[in-house]
Amino acid sequence: MNNFALDPNSHEGKVNHKIVFALERLSHVFRIQLWEANKQFQLSPLQMQILTTLRFQPQLDSVTAVANYLQLTNATVSDAIRVLHQKQYVEKHPDLEDGRRQHLTLTTAGTDIAEELSLFANRIGEFAATLPNRAEFLESLLQLMQLLQENGFIPLQQMCTTCAHFLHLDNGTSPYFCQLLNKPLAPRDLRIHCPEYEGG
Ligand code: SF4
Repeated sequence: MNNFALDPNSHEGKVNHKIVFALERLSHVFRIQLWEANKQFQLSPLQMQILTTLRFQPQLDSVTAVANYLQLTNATVSDAIRVLHQKQYVEKHPDLEDGRRQHLTLTTAGTDIAEELSLFANRIGEFAATLPNRAEFLESLLQLMQLLQENGFIPLQQMCTTCAHFLHLDNGTSPYFCQLLNKPLAPRDLRIHCPEYEGG
């Protein structure tokens, strides 16, 4: 008989399937929140994702950079940014050396919305803070993300476990090492999105 991870009736004795099912349930959390926020801000989920991306990753300041990060086409992101610009949440600044390129920044109103949207993630973080094995949980999440990336399920993530500077030393409480920062890393120090990341 086939067992399906998405069939809760066949989970008995299969922790891996329970994990997958939990991830599937969790995947709805942010989507539901964005639809709720849609009523408040009259913005689509994508438009709100763009606002939070520009707020917390200002280096992604072009249509192409945002599109790559959100795994969408330039045309889709460009349309959404046009609306955000019309609503005066996003400003466009021509590149000083190449007038065809435009840099994106948030207006004060856009920043306020992005920060209000992010309060929801902070709330989830408060729940996560109560978990007794947070560091081990983070370590397991990174291992799963690495496997998903290596097998083509998710795009490249700027995380420690796939970084060229990362060493696995298997050394007691600090089993990892970052050669760039020249310091040991305990599981709690592992980064999911590191600005210094370098592909291996
Ligand atoms: S550079 Fe960043 S991602 Fe790479 S190992 Fe060091 S801390 Fe981790």
